[in-house]
Amino acid sequence: MRLGVMGGTFDPIHHGHLVAASEVQTRFGLDEVVFVPTGQPWQKDEREVSAPEHRYLMTVVATASNPRFTVSRVDIERPGPTYTIDTLRDLHHERPDAELFFITGADALAQILSWKDADELFELAHFIGVTRPGYVLSESGLPADRVTLQEVPAMAISSTDCRARVERAEPVWYLVPDGVVQYVNKYRLYAAGSPAGAPAR
Ligand code: ATP
Ligand code: MG
Repeated sequence: MRLGVMGGTFDPIHHGHLVAASEVQTRFGLDEVVFVPTGQPWQKDEREVSAPEHRYLMTVVATASNPRFTVSRVDIERPGPTYTIDTLRDLHHERPDAELFFITGADALAQILSWKDADELFELAHFIGVTRPGYVLSESGLPADRVTLQEVPAMAISSTDCRARVERAEPVWYLVPDGVVQYVNKYRLYAAGSPAGAPAR
């Protein structure tokens, strides 16, 4: 069983994430892609990140219609900051027979050697760096047999831009799935001056 792993803050999840996951699923013949929203993101503490439950639920809404897409709570249920090594260890423990393919933006891939336990990362998973067409990963020092680049067409969409648009009362229709537009409006996420609490579970 070949299992793609798409980690992210997903604040909010957008069509760039979904196109990337779908593209990699097809090209690498993955049986399933599991989206894993982060817990407290250790690289993003410079800004307030939406409550994990909101990011988890938006990810569920966005992926619900694809039979090959699932969502995992491993990172949001683990206390403390999320490290990819822990994500992969937990998923390997849950699904010992699955071959793991970690999908990540090439921006993050370039920093991967600075991640916690970089050597073990490459033992646990194959890494797929998604790039915009034409990107070249030069002299990265990454192990060539464990890292593959995949071009995806919707790389210009970012969560940062989606949040900024909502704050300016500009549309995010077609950048994120319809259900995510509605979820953001329902809980007033990202609107200026309205911190939203997590929905009750
Ligand atoms: P932010 O703008 O807050 O950094 P983001 O849009 O980069 O958010 P993340 O949740 O940080 O979204 O990204 C999760 C993963 O998806 C990362 O590996 C990131 O590189 C990748 N990614 C982000 N945007 C795209 C996109 N448009 N196409 C493909 N992959 C993307
Ligand atoms: Mg990012």
